Amino acid sequence: MKEGESRKRKRRRRHNSNSKPQDQESYQSKSTAKTTAKKHKQDTVKNNEQQYEHHQTSAAASAKRPKPSSFLDKMRARLSGGHFRMLNEKLYTCTGKEALDYFNENPALFDMYHSGYQEQMSHWPELPVNIIVKWLKDHSPSLVIADFGCGDARLAKSVKNKVFSFDLVSNDPSVIACDMSNTPLNSSSVDVAVFCLSLMGINFPNYLQEAQRVLKPSGWLLIAEVKSRFDPNTGGADPNKFSKAVCDLGFAPVSKDFSNKMFIMFYFKKKEKQNSKSKEIQWPELKPCLYKRR
Ligand code: SAH
Repeated sequence: MKEGESRKRKRRRRHNSNSKPQDQESYQSKSTAKTTAKKHKQDTVKNNEQQYEHHQTSAAASAKRPKPSSFLDKMRARLSGGHFRMLNEKLYTCTGKEALDYFNENPALFDMYHSGYQEQMSHWPELPVNIIVKWLKDHSPSLVIADFGCGDARLAKSVKNKVFSFDLVSNDPSVIACDMSNTPLNSSSVDVAVFCLSLMGINFPNYLQEAQRVLKPSGWLLIAEVKSRFDPNTGGADPNKFSKAVCDLGFAPVSKDFSNKMFIMFYFKKKEKQNSKSKEIQWPELKPCLYKRR
């Protein structure tokens, strides 16, 4: 009796462990995983989110896949890279007002943009914001600064000066959210206006006009921009034409620095006296800075 019972139990156990539904389930999960991996190779911005969700489900189901976390990490990086490039292109091809409306509708996209931006910057041997911080540290800490397009407000965090930081979205109480062609600053109220990689909108002359308004006479205008945007050999703007346009706006050139591989620096001072006659300024076009897929 006892023996018979134990044989029956064993058989039942064997049956359960080889049961069909389980077999099917594991087969399905493997095949889903295969399809998913294939699907993920097509890295299109269009269906990124769908792919991402799909992958998460199948990844959870297939425990046997080698190094799932490194695969997931790679996919996440690709997706965020794609989003970053799309947002970056958007910012370079619309006006500041349109960019402000765009991010107001979905502020989460701003974080996505900035994590992609930080990723790109991590490959630069030197950051222009650090050159500007160094310049400021060589000048009086009493200078009042306006940082136009401040990003994560690294500049304000790195100096003792009073800094007004402006960007399209504020994730930090020290950052004022606005389109920088229209800041809340009083006219002739700051000593240094900084544009560090931020002349992005197609209406960039309006940003410089705003800087001209808020700067005190003899105030500094510091501009750091991606070098390729000022390389006429590759379709970039002529830096001399750009300088001439800034001077027509009411500035005097002080110096230019082309020594860095990735960016160039312009230093201007606001003229003591502004021209009474406002003449039409010939601004060169600044081409967008599009980042390559890595
Ligand atoms: N100056 C920072 C961030 C550079 S990225 C740094 O060097 O690290 C460029 C920044 O300019 C982005 O954060 C973008 O949101 C901001 N920007 C672009 N157009 C803007 C506008 N019209 N008004 C305010 N900020 C703007």
